[in-house]
Amino acid sequence: MTLPKATIVGYPRIGRNRELKRAEEAYWAGKISLDELQSTAKSLRLGTYERLKSLGLNEDWAIPASFSYYDQVLDAAITFGALPKRFEYLRDAKTTDYSLNSDAGSRAVNSFAERMRRPLGEDEITLDGYFTVARGDKNRGEQGLPGEMTKWFDTNYHYIVPELHKDTRFSLANFEILRTFEEAKDAGYNIRPVIVGPVTLLSLAKYTDGADLRYLVEPLAASYARLLAALASKGAQWIQFDEPALVSETHAFSAERMRDVANEVYGELAKLSVSGGERPSILLTTPFGTVDDALLDTVLKLDIEALHLDLVRGNYAPEQLDLGGKTLVAGLVNGRNIWRAKLGDVQQSFKALEERFGLEKVAISTSCSLQHVPHTIADEAILERDFPELVSNLSFAEEKVNEVVRVAEGYETCGRKPRAELAGRKVEAVHQRIDAVVPSDFERESIAERKEAQSARLNLPLLPTTTIGSFPQTPEIRKARAAFKKGELSAQGYEQAMQQEIKACVELQEHLDIDVLVHGEAERNDMVQYFAENFQGFDVTENGWVQSYGSRCTKPSVLWGDVYREVPFTVPWISYAQSLSQRPVKGMLTGPVTILAWSFVRDDQPLGTTANQVALALRDEIEDLEKADISIIQVDEPALRELLPLKKAEQSAYLKWSVDSFRLATSNVRVDTQIHTHLCYSEFEIVLPAIIALNADVTSIEAARSKMEIVPQLVEAKYPLGIGPGVYDIHSPRIPSQAEIEDLLKYAVQTFKDGNLPISDLWVNPDCGLKTRKDEESTPSLEHMVQAAKAVRSTL
Ligand code: GLN
Ligand code: ZN
Repeated sequence: MTLPKATIVGYPRIGRNRELKRAEEAYWAGKISLDELQSTAKSLRLGTYERLKSLGLNEDWAIPASFSYYDQVLDAAITFGALPKRFEYLRDAKTTDYSLNSDAGSRAVNSFAERMRRPLGEDEITLDGYFTVARGDKNRGEQGLPGEMTKWFDTNYHYIVPELHKDTRFSLANFEILRTFEEAKDAGYNIRPVIVGPVTLLSLAKYTDGADLRYLVEPLAASYARLLAALASKGAQWIQFDEPALVSETHAFSAERMRDVANEVYGELAKLSVSGGERPSILLTTPFGTVDDALLDTVLKLDIEALHLDLVRGNYAPEQLDLGGKTLVAGLVNGRNIWRAKLGDVQQSFKALEERFGLEKVAISTSCSLQHVPHTIADEAILERDFPELVSNLSFAEEKVNEVVRVAEGYETCGRKPRAELAGRKVEAVHQRIDAVVPSDFERESIAERKEAQSARLNLPLLPTTTIGSFPQTPEIRKARAAFKKGELSAQGYEQAMQQEIKACVELQEHLDIDVLVHGEAERNDMVQYFAENFQGFDVTENGWVQSYGSRCTKPSVLWGDVYREVPFTVPWISYAQSLSQRPVKGMLTGPVTILAWSFVRDDQPLGTTANQVALALRDEIEDLEKADISIIQVDEPALRELLPLKKAEQSAYLKWSVDSFRLATSNVRVDTQIHTHLCYSEFEIVLPAIIALNADVTSIEAARSKMEIVPQLVEAKYPLGIGPGVYDIHSPRIPSQAEIEDLLKYAVQTFKDGNLPISDLWVNPDCGLKTRKDEESTPSLEHMVQAAKAVRSTL
């Protein structure tokens, strides 16, 4: 079965109007029934197929089944029954135990047939069970902690980390993929089922409690085989396995181990015959970069029918690609950015591939799933009105589908108005300032001098308590912002409403007896968009939502011009908060790398240059905060890890410019001004040297979910600066007990003592900002945190 000429490897799935988000959140809040949620999901799926068909993906198997109730990695884990140990109870006891078997191929069909005799769904992990793994179970304490979340390769999407343990029993434990396929078929669409592939699933998993890869590969192969057999029996002729792990050196196994896993699992699958109808043809995708030499040969020799390569970010010499008769799905249209493709160039590359491999053997596609770009520029009327030349350069998911289709049809243009020059983006003064930067602009006094001056100025107790910045965004805040936006509330009225919030926030923190206060970030819709709105060089979209995790979406701004700051904008809020308290209030800013990572960024100059422009704009704001007598300034860089290149060879250049931009922003301060930063992830070891290089006086990081795994690493690295390892997870509504926080703190203190690091460097804070929580969750949690800190402090 040949693949159609035009395809994409994935599509946004929350809905053009965020229908799925709304339905899910209503379901979780108990406002709608499971039936209602499922029927919204169904109409969203069918609507998407119809739309994609009308955009030109009108051949069978061209449309990938891009849908997930929460996350594609969790989908795969649940499909194969890989529940974290604490959630094993969610698997019904009736589930057949498919123990190891060596002949997965033939057994697959049999055991599946056996299983299919039972009514579908009878012994499945249910959708509620699935949501429990994703979101946790408040009523089960430690045993109800949700699965850990981590960024999906170098995107800003987060997946749920699969947890394997010694009793993990892979089986076909959920039929959602089959039902989705049949539902589409019944509605007249032959869609291509998509699932995260075995190499990626096993690479990204966490091996807990004695899990051993050696005993997991074979049963997993058998389970994939069962899924294939089942899909084939329903009439599926293609399936897509997403295997981005194959291009990454930082998120995955060693190349050697990936090679073994790939050979074993795909070898098993190859035993099922396509022509005999035992399985669908397999399309394997490798988005986000190059499959390196160490693995390319293996991948090219796999017994699969089609291979997708990311030809935007990937680097392949044509003579390397001996496809052995496989179809090449050429990922030539960039799925990661929002800029229009140069279709003439794409057409040329595509023709060259057709010439080389044969017309029938090449299809065109996006470089990765379009889940990382918004739906359509058709929903951006205001941007179109105000900046038509910008919009003429943009391409969101629908427009990218159109680009793919046009290339497949042989065009060199996309049938839109031609792109206009973005002449308006150059600001001479910004370039001059960048050119004038000198090495001393990146340096501060020695750490010892800073520590001494700052402790004299701040006079804080041991284990000082603080938060990461934001407090819950209450319905009142949202209402005031919406009213202000609509013009129903005056600027003055809005300012008053926000000041009220800030006042309440400061009072609450004083009442809780937190040592270093924050203003709560009530006035900020989003930590990047707020800066985009106040700096020059950015514009914001109205509907450019992309999924961040689960039902959460963000709306990245578009950084397309030279960046600078006109007037101070955080200073009035911070000064107001500071005026209400004797305790230090932190000035809160978002760092250059994070601003870049969470925006759609111009692609006409190096990222490092753009980062330095942002850094200088921040430097101006920091100068004004200091003038307003703010003694602690926090510059958040939660995205530092996320932009880290997947290839080791490219990492040092990245770390250089990213660290430099942070230092350029923060080094022009008094010796007794304390610079804080915040990073939100736990794979700390990878960027530890970079974190030290940032040279921030205090760094807060996520640590609670990994139970302070990072603290011994700090000791190992002789970490020289202040550090606040998060003491509780804010991603879940669960309220941590004082005792559990005390345990973590005692552990951190002891590890510091044993490792000869000064206790005075330890801070106490949650894992991240509290914005997405409710007051009833955050207030008692913070109370427990402060009490725990006091208890441990009293023992020092
Ligand atoms: N200061 C921000 C907040 O508290 C940091 C958020 C983040 O790191 N993602 O919301
Ligand atoms: Zn964070």
